[in-house]
Amino acid sequence: MSMLIKNGEIVTGDSRFFADIFVENETITAIGIDLPIPADCEVIDASGKFVFPGFIDPHVHIYLPFMSTFAKDTHETASIAGLIGGTTSYIEMCCPSRLDDAWEGYQLWKSKADGNSASDYSFHMAVTKFGPETANQLRKIVNDGTASFKIFLSYKNFFGVEDGEMYETLRLAKELGVIVTAHCENAELVSRLQSELIGSGKTGPEWHEASRPESVEAEGTHRFATFLANTGATGYVVHLSCEPALKMATDAKANGTKLFVESVIPHFLLDKTLAEQKGVEGMKHVMSPPLRDARNHERLWNGLSAGQIDTVATDHCPFDLSQKLLGADSFTQIPNGIPGIEDRVNLLYSRGVCTGKIDLHQFVNVASTNAAKIFGLFPKKGTIAVGSDADLVIYDRDYRGKISVKTQYTNNDYNAFEGTEIYGRPWIVTVRGKIQVHNGSFVGEKGLGRFIPRKPQYF
Ligand SMILES: [Zn+2]
Repeated sequence: MSMLIKNGEIVTGDSRFFADIFVENETITAIGIDLPIPADCEVIDASGKFVFPGFIDPHVHIYLPFMSTFAKDTHETASIAGLIGGTTSYIEMCCPSRLDDAWEGYQLWKSKADGNSASDYSFHMAVTKFGPETANQLRKIVNDGTASFKIFLSYKNFFGVEDGEMYETLRLAKELGVIVTAHCENAELVSRLQSELIGSGKTGPEWHEASRPESVEAEGTHRFATFLANTGATGYVVHLSCEPALKMATDAKANGTKLFVESVIPHFLLDKTLAEQKGVEGMKHVMSPPLRDARNHERLWNGLSAGQIDTVATDHCPFDLSQKLLGADSFTQIPNGIPGIEDRVNLLYSRGVCTGKIDLHQFVNVASTNAAKIFGLFPKKGTIAVGSDADLVIYDRDYRGKISVKTQYTNNDYNAFEGTEIYGRPWIVTVRGKIQVHNGSFVGEKGLGRFIPRKPQYF
């Protein structure tokens, strides 16, 4: 069956106009004024609404053994929560630990997603060690359609790589034409600061930020950029949180280093005083890099508007309150993560577009188009054009509501954005032409999503 979306206001990364969109066989096949209505066609009246390309979250964790527990999602729960909020594709971090075999880990991560996602998905492959087998395994993984790597400069002895391993990974990435995403914090400093704080009885969540201060992230960002410059590889800093790290990244970009910058929605809206609350209230707000001093918010919004920050992701990673309490005796044992896959788009729209901090095109670019271009999904994903997948978000700008754990689809027992007012939400969300969300409810097909293979980009 075909679908015709009539009278909507289409907004992409670089254009805005009124037109109808015709969808056939999962694909947009025509865009124009007053398109004819064929027999047997489902017609949707989008008058008064925006029509955006499906949003892309390029940084989520779904299956994740971490800090002696597991993140709470399945691909079913995470993809549905994402779709409710307009996210029609996501890229999951495939994260075997240093002790695991990379190829086996990759197969395991893929098997968790296979047939279980309600939206399309792809992977970044974490390189958590670089041994004699690694290069061949990574070649196989890239050939399989996972054309981006992830390295951690933090999480010593678990996910973290040494500088030599980072160098080998970047050399291989350059050869294969793939991008390397990086968590940039200095592992040694984090580990020393944690020991000192715990040793002096500073064990509560209020000390988490002090154990990984802004300078530690700035150092990691600078070191990653330096390694990129000296290997010729292309990089992408994940979840950048603060002004000193942004300065390092923008300086490197200005000097010609091929580097993209991602920040995540909590860092634009939440600050470290939330993690300084006593007990589990503080623990809810522990992630890494940590929530920062609120003075950073304005710098990040400006960086977004100026194009210094390329994408806004989530680092979605849900742990419930009982899991957060694993860190009751030591902040180093609090599972890290603030989930956001359901709320990212509405928050960015409500707190970014509606306040004038970014315009509609910047919004579409940082939440969809740029990720599609950087990670090789464009133009199938990330835009509205003839030939693109019919991943569409018909957005109700008249909706008014509040974010709450009581109404969320996210599989967790709290929401760090509880009570935040939103000024719009997706009305209809389609994945390749199939209506998956209608008016805030999931109405679609659970196993519809497919793995999206990606090719090396050779930047
Ligand atoms: Zn992450």
